[in-house]
Amino acid sequence: MATKITNQLEVLTERLAELYFIKRDYTGLSGFLSERISWIGTGVNEICSSKKEAVMFFEEESRIYDGYFLIENAWFHGIEISSDLGIVMVTLTAKTLPDASCVMKMPLRFSVVWHKDNNLWKVIHVHNSIADTDLKEHNYFNIEAAQSAYSQMNERLNNAVNTDPLTGISNMTGFIHDTEKIFKKYPDDSYAIIKFGIKNFRYINRVHGYGMGDKVLQNIAKNLKKTCREGETCARIEKDIFAMTYRFLTKDEMSYREKKVRTKLIDRRISKKINMDICFVAGIYLPQDIRHEHVIDMLDKALIAQQSVPKNITGSRSVYYDDAMMNNMIQKNELLESAIPAMQNDEYKLYIQPQFDIQTHRIISGEALCRWQKEDGTLIPPNDFIPVFEEYGMIISFDFHMLELLCQQMRKWMDEGLELKPVSINQSRLHIENEAYLEDFCSTVDRYGIPHEDIAFELTESAFVEQQDEMLKLASNLHKRGFQLAIDDFGTGYASLNFLSVVSADILKIDKCLLDGIENNKRSRSIIEKTIELAHEIDMTVICEGIETEEQLEYLSRIGCDIGQGFLIGRPMESRQFEKLWMQDKVLSN
Ligand code: C2E
Ligand code: MG
Ligand code: MG
Repeated sequence: MATKITNQLEVLTERLAELYFIKRDYTGLSGFLSERISWIGTGVNEICSSKKEAVMFFEEESRIYDGYFLIENAWFHGIEISSDLGIVMVTLTAKTLPDASCVMKMPLRFSVVWHKDNNLWKVIHVHNSIADTDLKEHNYFNIEAAQSAYSQMNERLNNAVNTDPLTGISNMTGFIHDTEKIFKKYPDDSYAIIKFGIKNFRYINRVHGYGMGDKVLQNIAKNLKKTCREGETCARIEKDIFAMTYRFLTKDEMSYREKKVRTKLIDRRISKKINMDICFVAGIYLPQDIRHEHVIDMLDKALIAQQSVPKNITGSRSVYYDDAMMNNMIQKNELLESAIPAMQNDEYKLYIQPQFDIQTHRIISGEALCRWQKEDGTLIPPNDFIPVFEEYGMIISFDFHMLELLCQQMRKWMDEGLELKPVSINQSRLHIENEAYLEDFCSTVDRYGIPHEDIAFELTESAFVEQQDEMLKLASNLHKRGFQLAIDDFGTGYASLNFLSVVSADILKIDKCLLDGIENNKRSRSIIEKTIELAHEIDMTVICEGIETEEQLEYLSRIGCDIGQGFLIGRPMESRQFEKLWMQDKVLSN
């Protein structure tokens, strides 16, 4: 397949041959060579493994014969291996000039391997050979046989380059190539570019081993191939990600085909072995202009659609790409780009929301909550950026930054002789997997000399449920070091009441969503009441979040909730304001 790269490399190799044989310009030639070139010449000892050695070898050659050559029957054939690697195979006959002192005619074949380094193509390997000179001139080098062998090699290389060795279907390069071919063959058809990932594939590998993981992928590939009609293709483009190019008729027809893929994706005998159904999350892009849009950009759009599917949905799901998704992603990227500079510019502000004794309404503690204050003064609430930071791992440094701000504030209060009120700080579940996390957390707190009992960790209920083993370990280590542990957002849908007796947390924070139902919903009331009862039985303190009305406050006081937090009594506020309220130590009212 002649590509832009193969054409370019063929021209470069012609130039190389010209410098070597016709001009014998070794200085010009060495400009094309990589420092780490390996060169295998025709003689027994003609092997160089660096540019320096190759240049010395050329100089030696020109001492033996310093005349010029002519080139005859030159044939250059390039193969693109990847965007930065290619081979050019050459057959030619080099002849000395008619008036040369010694007349030579050498049929040669050689391959030149090019690598793109800092945007410049350089030769990294040359393999030069000459056939058996004992044979008669016309027999010893069969140009056609050499060219046919090269062509076969070309085909094999192309296959290897385009095929996924595990499943035998195309890989990413093959997918792009196949799809471009289809578009050329049927340029007036409509298409759907689909990209999907297997849900919980890591789980299959982890529980059933990599061998079974491979079998699942091979089985999916085999079944996916069966779904492709003429003018369609499929590929495994990386790990557990597959792609298809289907002809597109209507959304109804596509959803019919998708249902078929879903039910036939994996053979029953395999799903029985792994004891689970295989589900996928797919993004579908319908290209409008196949003549001008690159397949790789189409795949990117299918990916954007795929990524718009919420992480916690059950079963399989497909989503069509639309331009709003792209805008969303651009916004996300802008957010991510400004996240680190915002840290340096001190744009993340420490806000504290008071937590008060339900009976006396006195502030007894607080919760640290972040506000991102942009240069123009606008405040971005955490729900607009924390999920993005979590998705891209930035939350790790962000949480430590907020801890640093909290510790600075608490140190200031200590230095001013104030008696500290405990403050809780939200921590992402992503920390849990990091072995060194607790050590790093402690060393920050200790650097400011803050007593450990004045800081509580808040981790969401979902972390307790989904990473139970890790959480038990973390809880025990936290307690050993004297910190308190709170379960945040209790009641948002994951945990059962029994789970409270398994995890060893100190504080239970009931989420606002449970409280919102109490006025008309007996079920919510029963859940809150039973939760408080059970939490007290196992010595946990109960905080209720999101108290907005007097009725809610009165109700919580009646059923024995310990601590309240909510707009009725105090919104999250700057730490200076929090300090003022607490110093006044007066009974709070809205
Ligand atoms: P959260 O930890 O559950 O915090 C309580 C949220 O409820 C806060 O939202 C608070 O402003 C809000 N809230 C409190 N009382 C009321 C009320 O009466 N009515 C209503 N409507 N809302 C109330 P906020 O500050 O927007 O924070 C949202 C979430 O962002 C937090 O939920 C927490 O999960 C996360 N977050 C905030 N700061 C940080 C941080 O520094 N690190 C991490 N990892 N997460 C943070
Ligand atoms: Mg919280
Ligand atoms: Mg909460």
